[in-house]
Amino acid sequence: MLTDSISDHTARVHGEVDLAQASVTAASLLAWWDEHRRAGIPWKTLPNGEPPAPDQDLDPYGIWIAEVMLQQTQLAVVGPYWQRWMTVLPTVDDLAASSLEQVRLQWQGLGYYSRARRLHEAAQLLVGRPWPRTVEGWIALPGIGRTTAGSILSSAFNTPLPILDGNVKRVLARLQAHPRPPARDQALFWSWSEALLDAVRPRDFNQALMDLGATVCTPRHPACGACPWHGSCAAYAAGDPSRWPMTDAPKPLPFQVIGVGVVFNAVGEVLIDQRLEEGLLGGMWEFPGGKQEPGESIEDCIARELQEELGIAVKVKEKLITVDHSYSHKKLRFVVHCCEWVSGDPQPLASQQLRWVLPEQLTDFPFPAANARIIEALLAQS
Ligand code: SF4
Repeated sequence: MLTDSISDHTARVHGEVDLAQASVTAASLLAWWDEHRRAGIPWKTLPNGEPPAPDQDLDPYGIWIAEVMLQQTQLAVVGPYWQRWMTVLPTVDDLAASSLEQVRLQWQGLGYYSRARRLHEAAQLLVGRPWPRTVEGWIALPGIGRTTAGSILSSAFNTPLPILDGNVKRVLARLQAHPRPPARDQALFWSWSEALLDAVRPRDFNQALMDLGATVCTPRHPACGACPWHGSCAAYAAGDPSRWPMTDAPKPLPFQVIGVGVVFNAVGEVLIDQRLEEGLLGGMWEFPGGKQEPGESIEDCIARELQEELGIAVKVKEKLITVDHSYSHKKLRFVVHCCEWVSGDPQPLASQQLRWVLPEQLTDFPFPAANARIIEALLAQS
């Protein structure tokens, strides 16, 4: 059983036992990966497109950007964002010298906008210094945790460090048919990932583990027949591998309705505000609005919010669009109405700044995904 081989190998790591079986396990995964790897990941290849040999380094900059993008998004989605980013900001010097607004524009559509700000902050710290070569050196930078640090170092320098992203947790939980959610046993999962790591090809081994999780040991329908480890997998032996990893019962997400006003002035400009830096979507631009109170009509909500947040009176007119959007911790419904500015000089009472802009200028500002759909609707009707 692989369960035995992992624990035996863990013991070997701790100096107690020496078994060849765990290296066979790593070797079988690498043999599978040599045939079935996900090709065409540009930050994982040399400039000539060839995969690096164990003694060849890759540029950590592109890997770092990709790893931060991949913290919340799948590989297939990240590809075009990464290409665009590397065209506009090809080096850490370019990133450090860029404005935060420009960085946010490159990040637009990926969500979790504080990550873009942290990349920008980290670039200021990295400029003129050699790339960190230790986990501690990377973790000291904003926005980098242990698995991102391990992934950057093993990918760039073939450093023998384990990783523990969502794909890896799922594979390990199934191999062991682990009876508790991985989040509750992080140290144990790290020890398994470390015990399995191939000492000669850690870069390839980590990528192989992620590729196995993404292409074979998938969340709902694992293709166990194609898996190099199925003969040693406890979840496969149990007959229903998709039962793992175990999860805690999900909490229902709170739901809120947000009234949003697209406020026009007499010359056809619309009013946008920039959110405060702190909190969700910090620093992004948006159309003003806020939460609907119990028993309040959406028109009254918009009029009240614009009075409270901007100090203006508006006439709420026809509905423009309704947009539903889910975040990890809540679901929102944005009900958007066009508004006519009646009186009051707009003040940024709950934001960093306000701007009147023509609708066609809106694409020059970084907006979160829900607002991007509002802009589409606005441009379609104008
Ligand atoms: S045998 Fe199936 S469940 Fe087990 S690791 Fe392989 S794909 Fe995942």
